[in-house]
Amino acid sequence: MVGHTFVVEKLCPICEKMTRVVKTRSRIPVTRRDEDACTHYRDFNPYYYTVWVCEHCGFAADETTFTTKMPDRYLAILRSVLLSRKINIPFTETRTLGNATTAFRLALKFLDILKGKSSKKAKYAHQLAWIYRDSEEHEDDEKEFMLKAAQFYEIALAKEHFPIGELTDNATIYLIAAIYYRLGDWQKATSFLSRLIGDQTVRQREPRIYDKARDLWGEIRASKKNPVKKGIILK
Ligand SMILES: [Zn+2]
Repeated sequence: MVGHTFVVEKLCPICEKMTRVVKTRSRIPVTRRDEDACTHYRDFNPYYYTVWVCEHCGFAADETTFTTKMPDRYLAILRSVLLSRKINIPFTETRTLGNATTAFRLALKFLDILKGKSSKKAKYAHQLAWIYRDSEEHEDDEKEFMLKAAQFYEIALAKEHFPIGELTDNATIYLIAAIYYRLGDWQKATSFLSRLIGDQTVRQREPRIYDKARDLWGEIRASKKNPVKKGIILK
């Protein structure tokens, strides 16, 4: 939407041409936040723009990946994939749902080709689910990518060193629980929440996560008394 975005030129790390990308302004009024950290904004969805796409070669990734020096072997793999064919993704300042989901699916595909980190795959899959959530007509797509996000977060927990950015391991456990909760899998949600609630160090060191876990636990107990909600993605 005009007013929330602006266009800048960035060097594509793959084809090394300048490409236009869209950035979003930071002061957008928040209307609500879901259990799994999805934030809703008034009349605008900044998640549509978190994956950049090169208008020349079709490389897609978030800003950090786009602007951080990539190992040479990754560059070689992506160049062999991208520069030999024509992926035609025209630049657009205002993205449709289709433009946004294509960008995320490409970013996930490239990460897969590079055997990239599960934490990054989780982030892309989770935000893609949020984009589908916002449209309210793609519940199956939302569920598909919520489940993928939970699975990628689980692999990240097992294999990666936390914190990753600002994301701690406990925050990740909470996110997995929140995703399963929204998917109606209360058993899995409860089992992840119990890892937080049963741990005194979480209560002491990350009281905010502990409180959110306890609140969600209470929510599940209350919902069990009202089974109509089970299995439905809560809006
Ligand atoms: Zn490029």
